[in-house]
Amino acid sequence: LRSLVDDTDLICRYGGDEFVIVRKGTGLASAELFAAKIVTSMADIQFVEDGRAFNVQCSVGLAMVDSDVDEPEDVLAQADLACHEAKGQGRNQFKVFTRDRGEREKIAADMGWSDRIREALDNEGFSLRYQPIIRIGDGTEYLYEVLLRMRGPGRKAIPPGAFLPAANRFGLIGDLDCWVIRTALQKLASIRRTRPDVMFSLNLSGIVFSDPRIVDYVIEQLEVTGLPGSAVVFEVTEQIAIRYIDDASAIMRALMDVGCRFALDDFGSGFSSFNYLKQLPVSFIKIDGAFIENLAIDATDRAIVTSIAQIAAALGTETIAEHVPNQETLKILEGIGIDFAQGFYIGRPASSIRKKPVAVS
Ligand code: C2E
Ligand code: CA
Ligand code: CA
Repeated sequence: LRSLVDDTDLICRYGGDEFVIVRKGTGLASAELFAAKIVTSMADIQFVEDGRAFNVQCSVGLAMVDSDVDEPEDVLAQADLACHEAKGQGRNQFKVFTRDRGEREKIAADMGWSDRIREALDNEGFSLRYQPIIRIGDGTEYLYEVLLRMRGPGRKAIPPGAFLPAANRFGLIGDLDCWVIRTALQKLASIRRTRPDVMFSLNLSGIVFSDPRIVDYVIEQLEVTGLPGSAVVFEVTEQIAIRYIDDASAIMRALMDVGCRFALDDFGSGFSSFNYLKQLPVSFIKIDGAFIENLAIDATDRAIVTSIAQIAAALGTETIAEHVPNQETLKILEGIGIDFAQGFYIGRPASSIRKKPVAVS
C-alpha cells in the first residue's frame, strides 16, 4: 500500500486487516482510479506457505469528504459501509458510498444483524436443529441434516434466511460455518455413544470453498471429537460448487480423503448443468423441494424427478428428495427409485434427534 500512495496521502492501519487512506484534493473519478489500482495491485500478490499458493484479496470502500460530512467518524463509517458492500459482492473490488436511501437502510439493517451475529457468536446465541433423512423402503433413519437457528426474543428461533445474507455481506459466514462444524460434531460424538450409526449432513456456505483452511479445521474437529470422517456429509449447492469450481473440487477431494462425503444441495434449482454434475465428486444429489412438493399432482415434476434418478444411477450417486409432504409422495418416490426422503412429513427440524426412529413407510 505504501508503494501506491503519494507523499501527501495519510495512510494508517485502522485495525486487524483494515487500512485507511486519506487523499487530499481528489475528485471522485481519480479516487475511483486509485481504488481500482489498489484492488488490482493486491490481486497480483501471491505468497506460498507449506507448498500452497495464496492470493491476497482486498475490498475497498470509498467515501468523499464533502459538505455533507459533519464529523470525521461519519466519513469513516461511510467508507466502512461501502467496503462491506464490496466484500458482499465477492471481494476484489471497490464500492463508492452513495446516499441512496433504500440502499442505506438495507445496509443499516444489515449492520444491525451483523452486531447481533457477532454477539450471538460470543454468547451462545445460536442453536442447531436436526431433521431426519430416511432411507425409502425400509424407513431406517440414521442421517440428519443440521440446520442453524439464531435464538430470538422469548425462545423464538430465527431461521437462517433472516441472518445468513447479512453474515455473508459482513464476512461473518466463515465464523458461522466453523461454529456449526464444531458444535455439530460435538453433538454427533455424544449421540454416537448410544447410536453409533448416526451421521450428520452439514450445510457449508460458499466462502468455505474459497478457503483451504477449512480442510485443516474439519480434520482438527474430527480428531478432537474422535469421529470418523465417514460420519459427516457436507451439503453444497450447485451455484456455490460451480462458482468456486477449482477450489471447491480440491477442497472436496481433500475432505473425501479423510472419509467425508458430499451432497449436491437444491439440485435442479440453479444451473442444473449435468456437465458440472460429472465434474463434482458428490455421493448424494438432493433434489430441490420445488420438484417434490407437488409430485403427486404434477406429471412434469414426476418426469423431471425420474430423469434425475436415472442420471444419478448412471453416475453411481444416491438421491435424496427434500420437502416430502405426504405418504402419497413417498410412495411415488419409492416407485421412481429415489433412495432417501426428507421433509415435514418425515420429521420436522427438532432440537434433538428421535430416540427410537419411527417407521414411516
Ligand atoms: P436448505 O439446505 O435447502 O435446507 C432445507 C430447508 O427446508 C430448511 O429451512 C428446512 O427447515 C426446510 N424444510 C425441511 N422440510 C421441509 C418441508 O417439508 N417443506 C418445506 N417447505 N420446507 C422444509 P431452513 O432451516 O430455514 O434453512 C434455510 C437455508 O439456510 C438452508 O436451505 C440452507 O441453505 C441454509 N442453512 C441452514 N443451516 C445452515 C448452516 O448451518 N450453515 C449454512 N451455511 N447455511 C445453512
Ligand atoms: Ca441443505
Ligand atoms: Ca436444499
